[in-house]
Amino acid sequence: MTSTGHLEQQLRTLRLSETAYQLPEMITEAERQDASYQEFLARLLNYEQKRREEKRIERNMKWAAFPFHKTLDKFDVQEQTALSQKQLNQLRELTWLDQLYNLILLGPPGVGKTFLAVGLGMEAIYQGYQVSFLPMGDLVHILKTEDVIRKSQTRKKRILKSDLVIIDDLMYMAMNQQEANLFFQLINELYDQSTLIFTSNKGPKDWGQLLGDEGITTAILDRILQRAEVIHMDGDSYRMKYRQSIFEGENDETDPAKSVQN
Ligand code: ADP
Ligand code: MG
Repeated sequence: MTSTGHLEQQLRTLRLSETAYQLPEMITEAERQDASYQEFLARLLNYEQKRREEKRIERNMKWAAFPFHKTLDKFDVQEQTALSQKQLNQLRELTWLDQLYNLILLGPPGVGKTFLAVGLGMEAIYQGYQVSFLPMGDLVHILKTEDVIRKSQTRKKRILKSDLVIIDDLMYMAMNQQEANLFFQLINELYDQSTLIFTSNKGPKDWGQLLGDEGITTAILDRILQRAEVIHMDGDSYRMKYRQSIFEGENDETDPAKSVQN
């Protein structure tokens, strides 16, 4: 008679550690229900598979470093006239990701650019892809410090391994020559191996000014826009529209989002 302790050990050696942990319970359950050998084995393998998938998702979500976790089920298409339900469904199918087709989400603050990017990123993880989410400021910091800070080095490696790289609030700040060069190098490395999502409140035409170098800008733009879908997100700021107000009927008249650049 083999003790479950020994079996658990063997399962661990065979890298079936999730099942090892659950084994005593599964045996008891199978005995109680008089399950067949085949049924028992199927349950065991299904359990291992399910737990592995859950752990993969967990690990990749951590890797991605999303600012929040909110799935596209919560995305209200009625509020976003730039996208129909059909188009949103199409985006969710992620064929563009396989085809290395970049997405550029443009629009003023509060219209849901970051939400849409995060939602698509999460969807990609569920479907088996690796994703990195980077606010532009963080990205520049990572690129500038990858030689001296280990954490930056790790993140840079992850970016390069990602199937989808989301850069949030692209060009919200002016970059100096060194930063622009580093950024261009990265885009160059990612080009042809990863798909990109950019969110920005400025259109590609204005990016040149911020990069301060027409040559580099044109090169970046060529690369990115060659295969890209540009989605102009519009409408009122969702944030402002639904913010809680202490005054009755105050919400719509003065919308600070319209005059403030974030
Ligand atoms: P942006 O990145 O364009 O500034 P966010 O994605 O940060 O905007 O959205 C601002 C807030 O409004 C967030 O709390 C977001 O969840 C919410 N929001 C924006 N658009 C929608 C939408 N279509 N459906 C549901 N929530 C939305
Ligand atoms: Mg945003």
